[in-house]
Order: sequence, then structure tokens, then C-alpha cells
Amino acid sequence: MSENVAPERVSALDRPYDPAEVEARWYPVWLERGYFTPRLPPDATADQLAALRKSHYSIFIPPPNVTGSLTMGHVLVQTLQDVVIRWRRKEGDLALWLPGTDHAGIATQNVVERMLAEQGRSRHELGREGFVREVWAWKEKYGDLINQQERRLGCSLDWTRERFTMDEGLNRAVTEVFVRLYRKGLVYRGHYIVNWCPRCLTALSDEEVNHEETDGQLYHIKYPIKGSEKFVTVATTRPETMLGDVAVAVAPKDRRYAKLVGKTLVLPLMRREIPVIADEYVDPKFGTGAVKVTPAHDPNDFAIGQRHGLEPIVVMNPDATMSDKAGDFAGLDRFAARKRVLERLADLGLLARTDQHKLSVGHCDRCDTVIEPYLSLQWFVKMKPLAEPAIEAARKKRVKFFPTRWTKVYMHWMTHIRDWCISRQLWWGHRIPVWYCQAPGCGEILVDTRAPERCTKCGGAELRQDEDVLDTWFSSWLWPFSTLGWPDETPDLRVFYPGSLLVTGPDIIFFWVARMIMAGDEFMGEEPFPHVYLNSIVRDAQGRKMSKSLGNSPDPIEIMNRYGADALRFTTVFLTPTGQDLIFDEKRCETGKFFANKIWNAARLVSMRLGDLDPTTVKDAQLSLTLTDRWILSRFARCAQDTTRFLKTYRFNDAANAVYRFAWHEYCDWYLELVKPRWSEEGAVTDPAGARTARVVAHRVLEGILHLLHPFMPFLTEEVWQSLPHQGESITVAPWPKPKRASFDAAAEADMGLLMELVAAVRNLRAEMNLPPAKMVPVVVRADARQSERIRAHRDLLGPLARVESWTISPEATRPGVAASAVVQGMEVWLPLTGLVDLDAERMRLAREADRVLGELESTRRKLMNQDFLAKAKKEVVERERQKLVQLEETVAKLKRAEEALRA
Ligand SMILES: [Zn+2]
Ligand SMILES: [Zn+2]
Repeated sequence: MSENVAPERVSALDRPYDPAEVEARWYPVWLERGYFTPRLPPDATADQLAALRKSHYSIFIPPPNVTGSLTMGHVLVQTLQDVVIRWRRKEGDLALWLPGTDHAGIATQNVVERMLAEQGRSRHELGREGFVREVWAWKEKYGDLINQQERRLGCSLDWTRERFTMDEGLNRAVTEVFVRLYRKGLVYRGHYIVNWCPRCLTALSDEEVNHEETDGQLYHIKYPIKGSEKFVTVATTRPETMLGDVAVAVAPKDRRYAKLVGKTLVLPLMRREIPVIADEYVDPKFGTGAVKVTPAHDPNDFAIGQRHGLEPIVVMNPDATMSDKAGDFAGLDRFAARKRVLERLADLGLLARTDQHKLSVGHCDRCDTVIEPYLSLQWFVKMKPLAEPAIEAARKKRVKFFPTRWTKVYMHWMTHIRDWCISRQLWWGHRIPVWYCQAPGCGEILVDTRAPERCTKCGGAELRQDEDVLDTWFSSWLWPFSTLGWPDETPDLRVFYPGSLLVTGPDIIFFWVARMIMAGDEFMGEEPFPHVYLNSIVRDAQGRKMSKSLGNSPDPIEIMNRYGADALRFTTVFLTPTGQDLIFDEKRCETGKFFANKIWNAARLVSMRLGDLDPTTVKDAQLSLTLTDRWILSRFARCAQDTTRFLKTYRFNDAANAVYRFAWHEYCDWYLELVKPRWSEEGAVTDPAGARTARVVAHRVLEGILHLLHPFMPFLTEEVWQSLPHQGESITVAPWPKPKRASFDAAAEADMGLLMELVAAVRNLRAEMNLPPAKMVPVVVRADARQSERIRAHRDLLGPLARVESWTISPEATRPGVAASAVVQGMEVWLPLTGLVDLDAERMRLAREADRVLGELESTRRKLMNQDFLAKAKKEVVERERQKLVQLEETVAKLKRAEEALRA
């Protein structure tokens, strides 16, 4: 244990709460004391490791990109993980939350390229090695920002186990996996139509392409039939690709074209002869029923070409200029070529017509360039065999999704899975462990975890490594075990795999979650986690998804500076209904801030009342519990039970709500009010045992609240806990409340419930009748004998809370003349008004008030019936008006009741 001394104990919390000061102080202490680092004994035996494994709880962070900085999305997902891991740590688990970052191939390469461009340099100038050095330098300098920000947020990550997807160990795991899959026949190289970004000059996975609905044109082009005056008309949205046509296809049963199949067409502009073929793929009802076949530039045409043995012709270069196979158009950019092709066709009278046509155009996720379906040689993983066990895992509920609706989404994708293109034409990433023998005529391909020195076939020493790197997700899909030392059988791997929970955004359920499950099954023989919690999307007050490009995403660091990390954490969880989106508005962080202040002020009061008493040394037997004590202890037990249950089922906002409601509305609003007379100086003289009990119970419940609140507000709770009498060294590792059965006291809760309702009813009547707050009032209650007994026994408690000077409670009580009335649990409650209120003046006030409210009610109603308003106003404005209407209706009812009370 370190010698680091805890921040000085503050004897009284007699200063305003300053989150910035407190939050800066505690994180370094937690780190130095190693609370976030679960330790395994050195040289542990297999049995010891197996025992530790039983108590482990591990979460692997979705590694943020090294290029990243904290967004509101991160705040939500990291806070939820921290809530769980802090809770499990307090439950006594061997809790590990493993941090790290992702090298983010294409994103990082683009960032560094942009930086070079600003300096007038380029990666080609630097060469591969120089460029990669430049990226590493960038990573050292800027890549740690998000980790620092996670510390600021209070994330209890084990930094001693931090990993990077391109560190040495992970490189080894990546290479090992590639080689194993290759040897198993699950990695192959093939010509394939990929999504190609002509700017990034790399293949993109389907998920890296954004499709946008665009207004385009559909061009109808006439292809002359050889030796005839006739034509076949085909339609296309990308006419420049016709230069690579190798056939025209029609449906086999299409009578219109039956005689044409087998005939030859002359491809315009290229004068190339191409056949008419029949293929099931063609839909006779679409367009003219005849389609051009361009295997090198369209995925469906590629399949047709393969079925008919047609050689693809690549008419474009990787940068989307036309290739030397494009005849007169060679060298032109694709869009310039399109224009020129159309002009030439029009000149020749071969452009039959042009229709307006909506089409979906793919754009590069990173640079927004229009992607090109492009034929190239790439590496692939065969996914079907890997998907089978992962589908089974979800079907057998070995992996469960929260909320459950995501199971369907997962299943759909997994059962329609396509092979995964894993090669990327980038420099930043894991180099593909494949070498090509350069000896003339050999052509051997060597795949190994280490660079081979000689060709295994011909013995040649001239080997060239594949230029490409692996898709970023090829390292992330191994994250849950590569980070623990795999392929070595490390103690960490034995204890902490599989993880216990994955928390991540639903947008990467395929990119990452599904692939991790597949990798876990394939390489560990076990899924990497039993539970996947897919968190909400963060939206602004207008319901738009927060994004950098919209500029509607506040900087969480600035919010933390203004409100505190605890306030931000608590608010995001508190506001996020399970399975729904988080509508976030910075101002709502006041919820968390006010709550922090409320707890602080309650603690200050308790601390003041405790004086020299150390409540942690007082035994239960020394207490003389009253109804209020038994009630608050029982309510706390219930709150602890609920909070734990909600956390177990990942109902995070219900958990936050349970603590909030109990702490604020039961403990602060009621209990701390109710004990005032007992623990006052006067009370301590007349009943020392009662005063001591009040102090001990108030402290005990407050400490319990701090424990339950700790996962949500780690800094505040540590500071307050340390400032009050306590046992143990930190709330971080102090045990989670486990309520004893004896603490539950249903009778006390029922009795207090009745009294509280009664007080609330009297307060309500006072407010409705507009009585000054300090005015003492008499109250008459008609209750049956049992209820009368219960209330009489505790009426001392009630007096001060409702400012009641005298109670008349009996089964025979009757309405005392002019009186306001209410009904509580079947009892009639009257507040006599004669002598308290100037009845005439009050009647006039009520009439005036009723006029005003009715007027407002009428105008709100009219607004909500106005179709024009409903159609044009923003959703939240309409919602506000609706809520206003409900409130006004309630006010009218209240005024009516008050008016009736005055009538009698
Ligand atoms: Zn791009
Ligand atoms: Zn060779």
C-alpha cells in the first residue's frame, strides 16, 4: 500500500461544495492506492487462478479511436460501464475494467495526411516507413487525449493494463489469427467487386459506406445488332461504365428477346462485339428488360460474368480516371468521361432518352467521396462457418442483448452474413503477413507469423510482403482476449476471460459486437461476454443526433468544468430511459448539480449534529429506535434492494432514480425534518438516548446513500464519506449495502405512510386556502378507532411539519362549519376556516383567480385545436402547450374545491 496520505479530513463540511477542487484531488489518490488494479498473486497455481476466476468481473472498454476526443456519446457509454464496475468492486468482485485505444487505420491516416498537407508535405514524399514514423509521433503527442479525459470523468479503469490495438502483443495476436484462419481455409484472396474510395485509394467495407438518396438520371442507350438495322436498348445510371461492357443480358423466359439470345451486338464507342446472353438475374419488368453487363464495375454483373465465363474489363484506374482500356476516353476523370460519353452517343443518335431517376449513391464514410464499385484483388474472411456458432450463442441465450430487441437485428445480419473484405490499401495498420516469391515462374505465396527468409517451394530469397494492411476491425474483434495476452495462456487470460458485460453503441453491433462473438467462439471456444448492453443514442433538445458536423454536440470537458464530472455523470444516466434515446441539454446538468449540493448540505447538517459522537462505534442494542427511525431504516433497505436489482438488469436510470428519490424526498425532506426536535440541544437534554439514536440513524442512512450513489457520483461521495466518521480507507472499496432482513419493517412504513399523507393533505389545504406559512391551524379528522389510535400516538411528529396547533381526531368528528376538506386513506380531514380567513375577501380572490385561469385555459385549448399551429409548430412546443393545458385544468379543479369549501 502506498504511503500517500489521504486528503485531510475536513472536520465539518462547512464550505460550499466545489466540484472542481474535489474532483481534481481524488483520482490520483485512487490510482496510487491501486484500487482499479485487480492483482493476481505472482506464481499463482492453476487452482488459485480457477478460484479467482469465480469472483472475477471484467469489462473491456470499446477502445476509442486515438484520433478521438470525448463526446457526449462517450460520456454516456463510459459512465454506464463505470457505474457497473464500481458497483461490482464494492460487491467484492475481482473487478477489471480494461482501457485502451484503437489505431483506427483510415481515420488516423487521414488526420496525419491532412496535417502533412497543411505543412505542404505528403505521405508519398515521406515514403511508407517515414510516414508510419510520422503517425507514431502523432499518436505519442495527441493519442492520449481521450484517456486523460476519461480520467477527468472519473472512469475507474485499470491503467496498468492499458492496451493499444497496434502494441506488440496485439500485433502478435492479429498475425496469429490471420495465419490460423488462412491455414483453415477461412482466409482467401480473390478478385471481387469492392466499395472503392478513389480519394482514400482503398477498399471500404459495406459499413464504411453511407448511402444518400440523390436525384439522378437514367440513360437509355441503343446498342446496334450486328448485321441489322435494329437495336437493343439498355438503361444505366453510370453510362461511362458501358466502355467495360462484355454482354447484354435478358431474362431467359422473356419472349421479346427470345430470338436475340446468342446474337451479337456492337458496343457503341468501342466497336467491340458482345453477345446477348440469358440470365435469371434479369428482371424482365424492369426498364427495357435488357441490361448491360459490366463485370468489373458492378457486383451483380460480376456474378453474371462469372456464371457465363466472361472476362471483366477494368476501364477505370484506382483514382477513378478512365484506364487505357477505355479507348478514346482514357485519362479522363469518371464524371468528365460520363459527359463525353453522353455527348458522343447523342451525336451518333444512340441516346434514346434520359429519365429523371432517384438513386442511392454511396459515399466514403471518411471523406465523403462518391465510392465506385470496383474490381480488385483483396483478402477476405469466409464468414458463414464463423457465424454459425455465434448464431447458436444468441439462440441458446449464451449471449443476451439488452434491450432484447437487438437480438433480432443481430440474428438478421448474422444469417445474411457476407464475406469480410479485410485488406485495406493503407499504410497505417497491421501489415498483412503474406509474402510473394519473386523468383521467375515460382509464384509461391507464403503465409506465416514471422517473415520467412526463403521460399519454401523454390528456396529463393527474394520475397515481397503484401503491401496492404488489415481492416481496423481485424484487431478490434480480438480485443476481449488479445488484451489479456492471447495467444499465450497468461494468468490474466485464465482469470478475466470471458468478460462479464459489454456496453457499446448499437451502431457497431455488426462492425464489432458480432465479430467479437465469432472470434471468441473460434479462438477461445467461448463467447467473450454473456451480456451486451446497447446504449442509447444521444440527441439534442430538438431530437437531432449529436454530431460534430451539425455542431450540436457540447464539449463534455466544458460541461464538467461548469457543473462537475459527477453532475454530468449523474444527469446523463438519470435522463436516459432504458432502451430509449438520451435527449440531452446542457442545462439539465443542474439536476446533478443540485443533487450534489443537496447531499453535501445534508452531510453538513449531520456532521454538525454528530459533534464528537462516533456513530460507527455505537451498537444496535444501544439505540432506542422510534417509528421514524424504523421507517427510514426500512425505506433505506428497500432503496438498496431496488437499486441493486435495477443494476443487475441494467436499468441504470431506474437505479439512479431510486437513489435520488429516496435521498431527496424521504431522507432529506422528511427524516431530517422529523428528527429536528429530538437531536436539538433541548432534545438532547430531555432525552439523551433519543438524541443519540437520531444522530446514529441519520449518519447510518446517509452513509448508505453515499454507497448507493458512489457508482454514479464517485468524487462527491468519496469526499463526503471521508469527511464523516467512517471505517475503512475509501468508499471505492468499502462494501456495498446488503440490507438485513430485520431492517424491513412493513408496519413502520404503513404508519409513517399514513402520517405523511395526512401532513401532505394539510399542507395542500393550507396552500389552496392561501394561508400564510407561519399561521398555526386546528385540524379535525374523522377516522375509525384504529386509525385514530395510530395518529394520536404520533401527533407530536405531525404538529411541526404541518403547523397544526390542535388535533381533533375521533370516529364521531363532524365538519366544523366553513372548512376546507380532503380525504386520506378513507379518513375525512377538515381545516376550519372561520376566524382564519376573511371569507368575503377570499371568495373574491378565488373568483378573480378563476377568471384569469379560465381565460388562459380557453386560449390554450383553442391553440391546440388549431390545425395550422399543430402542423407548423415544433414538436416540443406543442408538447409544452399540452402540458400547460393539463396544469391549467388541475388549477381550475383546485380553485373550484377552494370555492366550495367557503360555501358551507
Ligand atoms: Zn475516402
Ligand atoms: Zn519461390
